[in-house]
Amino acid sequence: MKLILLGPPGAGKGTQAQMLMEKFSIPQISTGDILRSAVKNATPMGVKAREYMDAGALVPDDVVVGIVRERLQQADCANGFILDGFPRTVPQADALKDTLSELSLELDAVISLEVDTEALVARLTGRRTCSTCGKGYHVDFDPPSKEGVCDACGGNLVQRDDDREETIRKRLEVYREQTAPLVDYYLRGGLLAEVDGMAGIDEVGRQILSVLGAR
Ligand code: ADP
Ligand code: ADP
Ligand code: ZN
Repeated sequence: MKLILLGPPGAGKGTQAQMLMEKFSIPQISTGDILRSAVKNATPMGVKAREYMDAGALVPDDVVVGIVRERLQQADCANGFILDGFPRTVPQADALKDTLSELSLELDAVISLEVDTEALVARLTGRRTCSTCGKGYHVDFDPPSKEGVCDACGGNLVQRDDDREETIRKRLEVYREQTAPLVDYYLRGGLLAEVDGMAGIDEVGRQILSVLGAR
């Protein structure tokens, strides 16, 4: 299963990727997670990326295209993968197309998660992530059994630096301008499957699986 999860910040891409990863035993490739780990380790790429991420802007295309190109060549991607948060611009989508054809890989579907702006803001302001294992939570919509503590590993739950209201608005604007055109891009390519992302987490998961089963 080779998938792209497309949708604005807070749509539930990471949440659904975790479900799909377990279901199909395929890796989740999140450019956001890879970049955040580079920032944390203060690698040269991380140092450069940080300015863009803190401002809610996109990291330059050549950086993320390089990350994904390298990642897709690793052995665990042979049976499939879930791209989460990539591509985010038309040039990234074109570069992905070239990379996949070089590797003789073909996408099965692009799942577009559709969620209203106000719901996105509520999801992002309440998002918490385990600092140890990366599992995602929401203070109201998907709380851990003990506040601030990861159910899976006991790690500390933290809020992302860019999940603050001003940065959130900026990221949503960047999404509308630079990423939303990809909906049409993949619709034209015959790969797009639209899913109503406003439902609860489990219901959205069922809809995704049903769309995939229908292909
Ligand atoms: P994305 O990866 O698209 O930015 P996430 O998967 O991190 O989004 O989800 C953003 C926040 O919203 C998280 O706190 C998550 O727990 C919560 N969330 C995800 N899906 C839903 C849903 N269907 N309903 C309510 N909250 C959700
Ligand atoms: P969310 O799912 O909440 O939008 P991500 O974790 O996917 O957040 O991305 C966080 C930040 O990392 C983005 O705001 C952007 O600065 C950077 N980033 C992640 N993926 C890409 C990408 N494909 N192209 C450019 N920048 C990216
Ligand atoms: Zn954890």
